[in-house]
Amino acid sequence: MTSPGNDEARWDGDARAAELAGRLLAVRHRIEAATVAAARSDAPRLIVVTKFHPAGDVRRLAALGITDVGENRDQEAAAKAAGLTDLDVRWHFIGQLQSNKAKSVANYASSVQSIDRPQLVDALAKAVAREQDATGRADLDCFIQVSLDNDAGAHRGGAAPAVVGDLAARIETAAGLRLCGLMAVAPLGSDPEEAFADLSRISAALRVDHPSATAISAGMSQDLEAAVKFGATHLRIGSDILGSRPAVG
Ligand SMILES: *Cc1c(COP(=O)(O)O)cnc(C)c1O
Repeated sequence: MTSPGNDEARWDGDARAAELAGRLLAVRHRIEAATVAAARSDAPRLIVVTKFHPAGDVRRLAALGITDVGENRDQEAAAKAAGLTDLDVRWHFIGQLQSNKAKSVANYASSVQSIDRPQLVDALAKAVAREQDATGRADLDCFIQVSLDNDAGAHRGGAAPAVVGDLAARIETAAGLRLCGLMAVAPLGSDPEEAFADLSRISAALRVDHPSATAISAGMSQDLEAAVKFGATHLRIGSDILGSRPAVG
C-alpha cells in the first residue's frame, strides 16, 4: 500500500502508476467503443472519481493526462486540492453538499454537480461572489442533480424533475454561477438505459428555456455504456479506474 498522503518520493514508474495506467486505458477503450456504437462524433469528458483514494493517486492520474477529478466529501476534497495546487486538474464536487460547506467548496471546485435545492444555490452564489472578490476565481459550473427514482424505493439523491426549471432559473440569475446542465445517478436495481433515457428527456425539456444547459453528467463504472448511448457529455468513473474503495467507518 502507498501512504495516504501526497508525499511519496517516487510516484512515477511505481506499481500503482502502472495499475492505474492499465485500468484507465481499459476504460478509455470502453468509452471509445460506446461512442462509436452510439454514432456520436463527440466523446464525453471523463471525470475520474478519486474519493477515498489518496492524493498520490490524483498525482499519478494527472501524469497520465487526466485533467478532471471528482470528489464527494468536502473535507477530503479540500485537503487533496490544497496539497496538489501544482497540478493542472479541475475539481468537480459530486456529493451531497451542506450549505455551510459552500464557502470551502468555492475555494477549490470548478463545478458542483449535486445542486438539489434553492438554499444551496444561494449559498454557492454568496460563496463564489466572496471568492471572486478575493481571488478572481472563474464562475462556478453548476449542474442540477435530478432524481430518477419514480418511487421512494432506492433514493440516491437529487431534485425531483418537476423542480428542475425553478432551480435552473435561480442558478441562471445568480452572478458567478454558470448553468451547465444536469447530473444523475441511475437508481439501484433499475435498467440504466431507461433511467438515462428519462434523463435525456428531462434535459431536452430544460433546454427549451435554457438552451445553453447542454451538459448531461451521467454514467459510472457500471453503466457508462448506457450513459454514452443516451447522450452523456460527462462520465464520472471511480472504481473501474482506481479499484474498489477502501471501506470507511
Ligand atoms: C462514487 C460516485 C461515482 C463513481 O462511481 P463508480 O461506481 O466508482 O464508478 C459517480 N458519481 C457519484 C455521484 C458518486 O458518488
